[in-house]
Amino acid sequence: MMKKIEHIGIAVRNLNETAVVYEKLFGKAAYKTEVVESEGVSTMFFQIGESKIELLEATNADSPIAKFIEKKGEGIHHIAYDVEDIEKEIERLKLEGFQLIHEQAKFGADNKKIAFLHPKSTAGVLVELCQERS
Ligand code: ZN
Repeated sequence: MMKKIEHIGIAVRNLNETAVVYEKLFGKAAYKTEVVESEGVSTMFFQIGESKIELLEATNADSPIAKFIEKKGEGIHHIAYDVEDIEKEIERLKLEGFQLIHEQAKFGADNKKIAFLHPKSTAGVLVELCQERS
């Protein structure tokens, strides 16, 4: 079951420069900065009420974020949904015919188990499933 929008991921060219802008926008600082080397990203999280905004900067030229920015420029990269049981949700969505980028959940930023759905099966929007690691 999907519970809520957990966060929205925004691809940026320069994390520190963008952080200054978003700190002004929200009137507060990010609560976390984290590099996920396996994904080739450097991330920064802001808490806005129940939801979060994740800024993502590529750490290398092969990073999915580098490719995204090259193709589309900076902007909304993905929408992440909080799920109760990520393994169950992956199975359910596979049976429903969705194309998954990850057939198995893996460890992502912000203490989460994550999996991505291919934007081809979700109207052009990259969807992330995430579940808090207990
Ligand atoms: Zn994310």
